[in-house]
Amino acid sequence: MFRPANQPPVDCCGELHIVFQQGMLLSDMRSAQLCLMASEQLEQHGWQEMRRQFLGYWDERPCFAVEIGPDSPLDPMRHQKGNLYHILGRVDERLFALAGRAAQLLDWERDHRFCGRCGNRMRADAVERAMRCEPCGTINYPRIAPCVIVLVTRGPELLLARNANFPQALYSTLAGFIEAGESVEETLAREVREEVGVDVTNLRYFQSQSWPFPNQLMLGFFAEYAGGEIACDETEIADARWFHYTDLPMTPPPSSISGQLIRHYVDSL
Ligand SMILES: [Zn+2]
Repeated sequence: MFRPANQPPVDCCGELHIVFQQGMLLSDMRSAQLCLMASEQLEQHGWQEMRRQFLGYWDERPCFAVEIGPDSPLDPMRHQKGNLYHILGRVDERLFALAGRAAQLLDWERDHRFCGRCGNRMRADAVERAMRCEPCGTINYPRIAPCVIVLVTRGPELLLARNANFPQALYSTLAGFIEAGESVEETLAREVREEVGVDVTNLRYFQSQSWPFPNQLMLGFFAEYAGGEIACDETEIADARWFHYTDLPMTPPPSSISGQLIRHYVDSL
């Protein structure tokens, strides 16, 4: 359904656009696919285009990320503006991933207009997706931040934690960024020990998910409890407990990898 590509076709027709205004995604409430807009829509509303990035092909139609000017008028009966969470679980997973790609590429281009090494203006490379500084030769590629996300289990029990920043009593799996020089396995063991104080063993890879808040790649794992008592890192974790699979608290939706880890494990019991 989506085919990534770096260079747009010479003759574009039937183009689709994922449109942002001031960093917020626009949805068209009259469209079945919410965040995909045809060229006519952009022209019809007289939106001023600030920047665009080619994403690839959606159903073989060229697809672009477009940022429109802050004064471009929206139709309140038709358009909704929100962050990407807005469409999570409301559109196809592949379309959500594409909208995440769109947001990340526009942000990356905006944040690399000037060279971090010499301060000169950078330009988009003509061939590959890169920002290039001619005077000093620096090249910047879009960056993703790999994270591990892990469901720790002990037979029929799941270790779930409530993040100190969660607005409600939502319990989730543990997660953390991979630091420079670390292996995935080292990050996983360190994060679990730091956040809840227990040791784990028998790591098993599950699957991954692009998580564009703002640019993570979540690598999902199962791990078995190996020892230790729960002791929360209070700056990050408000509460962590063992929950029996028949008596789970409110957990993340299945549109997130955390929700998928939990559901997959419970289904396997
Ligand atoms: Zn430079």
